[in-house]
Amino acid sequence: MQLEKTPAGIMDMGSLLVFTGAGEDLQLQAMELPAIGEGEVLIKNLYTTLCGSDLHTFCGLRTEQTPTILGHEIVGRVVAVGKGHTGLDYSGAPLVPGDIVTWSIFSSDPESDEARRGMPQKAAGLFKYGHTQVTEIDSFHGGLAEYCILRRNTIVLKIPAGVPLNIAATINCAVATVAGALRLAGEVRGKRVLITGLGLLGMVCAAMCKDKGATQIYTADINEKRLAQSRGFGADVAYSLAEDQAGHGNAARKPSGVDIVFDMSGAPDAMEAGIAALGIGGTAVWVGAVFASRKVKIDAEQVVRRLVTIKGLHNYNYEDFTNAVEFMGRNHNVFPFETVVGKEFELENAQQAFEYAVEHKPLRVGIRIGS
Ligand SMILES: [Zn+2]
Repeated sequence: MQLEKTPAGIMDMGSLLVFTGAGEDLQLQAMELPAIGEGEVLIKNLYTTLCGSDLHTFCGLRTEQTPTILGHEIVGRVVAVGKGHTGLDYSGAPLVPGDIVTWSIFSSDPESDEARRGMPQKAAGLFKYGHTQVTEIDSFHGGLAEYCILRRNTIVLKIPAGVPLNIAATINCAVATVAGALRLAGEVRGKRVLITGLGLLGMVCAAMCKDKGATQIYTADINEKRLAQSRGFGADVAYSLAEDQAGHGNAARKPSGVDIVFDMSGAPDAMEAGIAALGIGGTAVWVGAVFASRKVKIDAEQVVRRLVTIKGLHNYNYEDFTNAVEFMGRNHNVFPFETVVGKEFELENAQQAFEYAVEHKPLRVGIRIGS
């Protein structure tokens, strides 16, 4: 394996930022790059965006085995394609050094039952980038590092021409997950939709529903700034859940009788409001509830009498991932995706990046990783 810029005889090293636990500073370390194995691909990471789940881990709201490398919304450049790899991306295009690519946040056994049933994100042999313990022999598997080694059965796709790195980085978690939510929702064209929770998933969901021809898009959140921002992503009516909960919501603007509700917040209040807003035969797709909270109260009689369907989604499958890449190729400058990354940091300053993200709550904070 030939690595760029590595003088002969000098060990191939890479930097990585190690997370050892909530409340502890991230540590910049250099480790030897192992030779890539059968079916693997070596990537030079170029840009990583900090996802909500990274922030939850950083703050101690969720626990990973430590030490670990955080960051799974990554875009990078192919350095080397290992023996035994097909040499193709998921679309069948040749994969060669220099290609700018995104990849599924997980790898799993494609022959397993769950994968065959369209749920590879829950299949046997599951491995997830940015969620795994760092060991001496297995360390480059996250976004906050110079390199990432893609395991066998990781789906890779080239980034369409013209998509900036800071937008491309969000494809393999936020955008692909929303693509999965729309798959579960069914036909969106001609429908009235409600999106609760206006983090990046909510914004992308509004944009995707607009792109797919929804006739009316309601967004709902407790944050006025996010509500205003959602208009740029396609929202027709932005409804304040804070005012609603305080008892002075605008009745004329309150969403009701909608066909589809997407919850991206994980907040029980928002999920309950979403179910109440569904019309006859409506569908709720829940995506945001990936942390512990109180149980959602649902009136079963209303679910039955109004023929309501509730679906849950965690992560995404390969069809969703493909749709996400295609969507961003067509829409990266149709909607204001350039406003998603509120501030950008270098890899060595990622500690400040996390602190900034927690304090200021932009949709995303970006980490630029060399060139
Ligand atoms: Zn994520």
